[in-house]
Amino acid sequence: MFNFDEQSIPYQQLALYADLTIDIKRLDLTHPLISGNKFYKLKHNIRFALDHGYQQLLTFGGAYSNHISATAAAGQLLGIPTIGIIRGDELAHQMLNPTLQQAQANGMELHFVSRDDYRRRHDPEYQQALQQQFPQAYIIPEGGTNALAVEGCKDILSASDLGNYDVICCAVGTGGTIAGLIEASTTQQIILGFPALKGDFLAQDIQHWTDKINWQLISDYHFGGYAKVTAELLTFIEQFETDHGVPLEPIYTGKMLFGLSELIQQGYFAKGTRILVIHSGGLQGKTSLS
Ligand SMILES: *Cc1c(COP(=O)(O)O)cnc(C)c1O
Repeated sequence: MFNFDEQSIPYQQLALYADLTIDIKRLDLTHPLISGNKFYKLKHNIRFALDHGYQQLLTFGGAYSNHISATAAAGQLLGIPTIGIIRGDELAHQMLNPTLQQAQANGMELHFVSRDDYRRRHDPEYQQALQQQFPQAYIIPEGGTNALAVEGCKDILSASDLGNYDVICCAVGTGGTIAGLIEASTTQQIILGFPALKGDFLAQDIQHWTDKINWQLISDYHFGGYAKVTAELLTFIEQFETDHGVPLEPIYTGKMLFGLSELIQQGYFAKGTRILVIHSGGLQGKTSLS
């Protein structure tokens, strides 16, 4: 089974803040398409599908979805065909954007559905109908978060990450990734999540996957909602890339690092705090967004 060599995941020190240790774990460098956290979310799901005789993976996403891109690439790599249920039936008659082109090139069968149908993606009846339409398919939810995904995300943290850091920061979408980090963490550590979208449901969603309480959401940096950006955010991302040589995208990692930088400036962390920032990838869609 394809797996990342833990030794090969680079850490990079962010040297700006003299009183703190801030290292960024570059999951974005593990694979160009199965970027960052998405591989960890998929790996046990794919193993489960193969072990249980499924012939395909089926999942959901928007036209720029990192999860769609990662699922297609992982399917290609591991030899299991993939089906993408894509939001927006108007897209069927348009030129595919680079994310969808790449997914198709990786063998994903794209099915465009209306926004009304797409809204029913969590509805058991709709899923049953899809299962009948694709009887050999193993269905993975939008964003890839389920129990096996949370289990896989525990592996993002190595043994030394558990000993070397006081605080671990990550971007939050559906909450599957942070749930895995929380589950893997020691009780001495605090996991700080920076939601990329508005919504009070997130804390509950995360609590669904873990009983631990050593975590907190910093909810002030969604910039108006999912995939919403401001000029200030884009300027920050450019400056960050120039200063540190670390590419960010505006949907997840850019918002997290903007928020983290502000917390640092506000003196949020005690002197000497050792912070690990998880770079969760997501750069595949970057050219098509900017
Ligand atoms: C999907 C994604 C996330 C969010 O992960 P969740 O498990 O849904 O919270 C964070 N960062 C990047 C770059 C992503 O692509």
